[in-house]
Amino acid sequence: MKTKAIYPGTFDPITNGHIDIVERARKLFDEVIVAIAESPAKEPLLLLEERLALANNALAHVANVQVQGFSGLLIDYMNENGARIVLRGLRAVTDFEYEFQLAAMNRQLDNNIETVFLTPAENYTFVSATLVKEIAALGGDVSKFVHPDVLAALHQKLGS
Ligand code: ADP
Repeated sequence: MKTKAIYPGTFDPITNGHIDIVERARKLFDEVIVAIAESPAKEPLLLLEERLALANNALAHVANVQVQGFSGLLIDYMNENGARIVLRGLRAVTDFEYEFQLAAMNRQLDNNIETVFLTPAENYTFVSATLVKEIAALGGDVSKFVHPDVLAALHQKLGS
């Protein structure tokens, strides 16, 4: 049976840390789906279509990876796709509490769903989409942390 992992998140925007997790996951699972949540409550900087296009470009080099958008409950999306593995990234202890809570809640909602955590390369442990946006908005150089298309999109959005 083919293994399929769903990597859900806001990806506002996709960073090299996210990409590192996808590359590692592809060595473990036959198929990886990056599932970009619309997340209106988080008031993303980028539209869902923009986040989808950027993730597609940034992951074009990785085989057997799909990028999809979704809204609503993750477990509903998982069931629609016949998937039971949720992939999440853990950067540091600070991520743990929220991720642990999320995994436990998803298990409460559907006991068939298992969450798998991967850690990124050390040089990405401090990279977050939030920090990247903050630095870019203040005119800082974030080219080490994102794909060139993401950099261009950030400059365009932020007028920096
Ligand atoms: P969410 O709003 O669901 O937290 P994000 O796009 O911020 O969406 O993150 C999606 C997942 O990717 C989370 O599990 C997060 O911990 C993980 N992640 C984000 N940045 C990194 C990184 N630099 N290295 C590893 N994992 C990361």
